[in-house]
Amino acid sequence: MFQNFGKVQPAETSLSCKSHKLMLYNEIIQQCHPGHYHILPLGMRSLEKLIRVIDEEMDSIGAQKISMPCITPLSFWKKSGRWQIKELYKLKNRQDQEFCINPTHEESVSLLFSCHAPFTAKEAPIMLYQISRKFRDEMAPKYALLRGREFEMKDLYTFDSCLEKAKETYENVCFAYEKIFNRLQVPFVKVEASTGDIGGKISHEFHLPSNIGEDILYICKGCNHGVNKELIDQSKEQQCPKCGGDLHFTSGIEVGHAFLLGQKYSSIFKATFIDKNDNIIPSQMGCFGLGVTRILQAGIEVLSLDRQIRWPKLIAPYQLCIIPQKEGYQSKETMDLAMALSDQIINMPNLNGEVVIDDRLHMTIGKRLYEAKRIGYPHIVIVGKRALESPPQFEVILPEWQECQFMSVDCLCQILSGVKTI
Ligand SMILES: [Zn+2]
Repeated sequence: MFQNFGKVQPAETSLSCKSHKLMLYNEIIQQCHPGHYHILPLGMRSLEKLIRVIDEEMDSIGAQKISMPCITPLSFWKKSGRWQIKELYKLKNRQDQEFCINPTHEESVSLLFSCHAPFTAKEAPIMLYQISRKFRDEMAPKYALLRGREFEMKDLYTFDSCLEKAKETYENVCFAYEKIFNRLQVPFVKVEASTGDIGGKISHEFHLPSNIGEDILYICKGCNHGVNKELIDQSKEQQCPKCGGDLHFTSGIEVGHAFLLGQKYSSIFKATFIDKNDNIIPSQMGCFGLGVTRILQAGIEVLSLDRQIRWPKLIAPYQLCIIPQKEGYQSKETMDLAMALSDQIINMPNLNGEVVIDDRLHMTIGKRLYEAKRIGYPHIVIVGKRALESPPQFEVILPEWQECQFMSVDCLCQILSGVKTI
């Protein structure tokens, strides 16, 4: 495995965010230059699983995956009036033509749609999404993947023939987002939010509550309705706009954002439908972002202990780490047993490719166990002396258990058969 523990990262002591420290120290990520991070093998495995979860939920609402260019010309952004956005990364080619490296794709997708337009109401909703690198010229990147200059984002754009249908689509997408966070088993809140630079009529944000989050959220104690502080009139007494209940506030890491855009982009770029009376009308659009690399880190931030990563289990890089005895008396036998156990487990339909054998036999079991706990494998199995008994007894450690348990291979497989993977 591409890892070299104990190589302390120079900036580490000055970091104030738990997930940032844990991800650097356990070699999930590594800074390349400020605001830009390498994602190392363990991080990539988790990220790819997260992408599969998102793909499944997008597919379940009928969204189709595409890929749009990262670089788009000045003309797109002049047309939408967004060329002046400060965070746009801009560049010129050898012919002195100006481009931007996209942070978002409303312009491109509307143009794409317009090439095939007009659509009929029967064909709606049309939902196109991509998961790709996005770029933002952040003044002060911090907390690694939580606020970087380069990040992985899922952006979905929806096109409907009327506002009523667009609202229905909006609700469906928000529901799919809730399903994603529920599958990851991370606590989240959905709050009303401002529409900002994107524009539009309705907007909601999805946050993972955390004290390092940069947004202040007001949550109703009565009905759980949430509002971003930006929308609250600070001069008035704070009460829930829905039920009048008392509000409490929390900070949150924004991981998703939904906008009902209306016709802002579709009218500029002629992304149209034909209505009942054969009139050509701009479509009612929605756009929906998920910060994919941000979810990866925010999930770790909200679930982990100070010195041990806790992954959202579904997307842990590996589900199981097997630790055979240190080299010496009978270590060949325990290594063989570890290999046989691994073979048996990877033959289970849910665990193919999910097992790591820590074969650094020059290290003690204790040292490797310490590291395995720190990396946060959801299941750790030690193949020690008692594995040489007949029948073999394996020492099983789950992070949420108070103590380890010795068990037979059948017992272990029974526990593992219930593990959800993707
Ligand atoms: Zn309320």
